[in-house]
Amino acid sequence: MYPSVIEEYLRPGSVSEALAAIARYDEGEAMFLAGGQSAMQAMKSRMLRPQCVVDLQDVAELRGIARDDGALRIGAMTRYVDIASETTLDGAFGALRDAAAHVGDRQVRNRGTIGGSVCWNYVASCMPAVVLGLGGTLELAAADGSTRRLEADDFFLGPLETARREDEILLAVSWPAPAARSGSAYKKWGLVRDALPVVGVCVTVTLGSDGNCTQARVALSGLAGGCQRAPAGEDLLRGCNGDADAIERAMAAIADSVETHSDMSADADYRRQLIRSIGGEVAATAFARARGG
Ligand SMILES: Cc1cc2nc3c(=O)[nH]c(=O)nc-3n(C[C@H](O)[C@H](O)[C@H](O)COP(=O)(O)OP(=O)(O)OC[C@H]3O[C@@H](n4cnc5c(N)ncnc54)[C@H](O)[C@@H]3O)c2cc1C
Repeated sequence: MYPSVIEEYLRPGSVSEALAAIARYDEGEAMFLAGGQSAMQAMKSRMLRPQCVVDLQDVAELRGIARDDGALRIGAMTRYVDIASETTLDGAFGALRDAAAHVGDRQVRNRGTIGGSVCWNYVASCMPAVVLGLGGTLELAAADGSTRRLEADDFFLGPLETARREDEILLAVSWPAPAARSGSAYKKWGLVRDALPVVGVCVTVTLGSDGNCTQARVALSGLAGGCQRAPAGEDLLRGCNGDADAIERAMAAIADSVETHSDMSADADYRRQLIRSIGGEVAATAFARARGG
């Protein structure tokens, strides 16, 4: 199918120009375009019918990965391929590379962006779960000059829904320097290896000097409710030293506590089994990375 008529296509060179362009239209009439890997399909199917498309690909200030004394800031227009090849994203930030390396195929990774993924917040997308599992902060700006920073817990509201207002642009996702002995990992299972997940699991842990877990975050992708934390498993991971039995108990508690659904890719029980098996692997990797492995 072809998109409905797009009256204006703009390619601003700065964030302020992009925001000014969006502000000229009423709500729902104009939209940003990042890598186009979700937006183009939505326009072709006429789920989205924008009068104006504001293409962000020339806005250089939205691109790039910056490290400052351990803190991390990833510009919204940074592509998966750039995240996957950023070797400083290890240990506490390992989940970002795990996910980016296997999003879609090479073409999707060369075009798709972290900002587009989190703003679209599709149920089966990897990056929303990873940003949630890593406790990222979303930096937003509006045409009136205001800015705000939202914690991932407050940004992701449900499938295809976020707290971003239509007149706001996502500037970046950021994290402070992680605590010592922190590690994270992400893994998904899909019908095709590098495609949207049936289930994906992200685990972040921080260990105390005795090797026991002091902080844990677990986030899931692929469930009908969209990306979500799994507090039942987080509670069981805290205090354990990452031994196989403790991890298994934590993942079983998650599988029993979250709502899984059946569709043509997998039934609800299979999704629960995936959470147990993938989750176990991911948690073991996160603990190993936290120990410096
Ligand atoms: C074949 C295929 C396989 C895929 N496999 C996977 C997969 O395995 N895992 C996975 O996670 N995803 C997968 N995807 C989805 C892919 O990750 C998309 O790239 C992503 O969902 C959207 O990113 P984008 O940069 O293309 O954004 P776009 O499609 O351009 O935009 C998406 C939405 O975000 C908004 N937006 C974009 N940038 C901003 C910004 N800076 N500020 C405000 N709003 C913004 C747009 O207005 C639009 O509403 C796949 C897609 C395809 C086509």
